[in-house]
Amino acid sequence: MIEQNISVSLDTQAIWLILTEEQVLLPNSDELLLKCEWQDLEFAHAYQEQIVKIGMYKGLSCYLIDMGNEHITHQNLSPTGLRALLNECSDQFFSIAARAWQVALFMRTHRFCGQCGCSMQQIDWEMAMQCSRCQHRCYPRISPCIIVAIRRQDRILLAQGKSQQSRNMYSIIAGFVESGETLEQSVHREVMEEVGIKIKNLRYISSQPWPFPHALMMGYLADYDSGEIKVDGKEILRADWFDTNQLPNIPSKLSIAGQLIEQTIAEIQQQNA
Ligand SMILES: [Zn+2]
Repeated sequence: MIEQNISVSLDTQAIWLILTEEQVLLPNSDELLLKCEWQDLEFAHAYQEQIVKIGMYKGLSCYLIDMGNEHITHQNLSPTGLRALLNECSDQFFSIAARAWQVALFMRTHRFCGQCGCSMQQIDWEMAMQCSRCQHRCYPRISPCIIVAIRRQDRILLAQGKSQQSRNMYSIIAGFVESGETLEQSVHREVMEEVGIKIKNLRYISSQPWPFPHALMMGYLADYDSGEIKVDGKEILRADWFDTNQLPNIPSKLSIAGQLIEQTIAEIQQQNA
């Protein structure tokens, strides 16, 4: 899917994902995509050798151009954060933008070999960086994470992490998978560490790439088994069982957290119907 050494000519029409610093350049107009010909993007022409094809959207190729730390001022384009894009564009386009961001981040952080310190180059048959001296090869980083919605009869466990405190947001339990651990072990461990309870009836539901910065969220539903809530006080500040008609501020359904909460509520309501 990802191709490099793309040859674009001036009349190549495409969707361009131009990254500058931590943001993507998007039109100031209502149009969410930067859809134009290469000749319209003169400010980016110095980066022609570094164009990466990320995918297709609505029949057009989507190309990544990473301008790194170069600061761009353009009358018709504004830098936009990836999270803002999540709220506005389609899932399909967001996944392309997310992939562009992760590829750019990967190339920015793999300019030198972690084994011998020599410079790394992109190889042209797959998305990887390879050392010019020792041939050490690196692939874009993906960090597996589990996320789980836990139900106790008619209530759902929601917790507030440190980063959610300022927005007074509650969500479900999530965490990184550790080396040597299965996904299931990871779910049981995270739940025990963060809120001190045991769960049962763990069911895998779906996954979502989450490019902040390179997680792959794997979503589960589970039922409460035993124990009393005891938050760790570091990652999780407070947690409680919530009635489905008295929910706090929760994540939107664009995120897998929001989808798992929604599914748990639907199951509760279905059983009570
Ligand atoms: Zn090397």
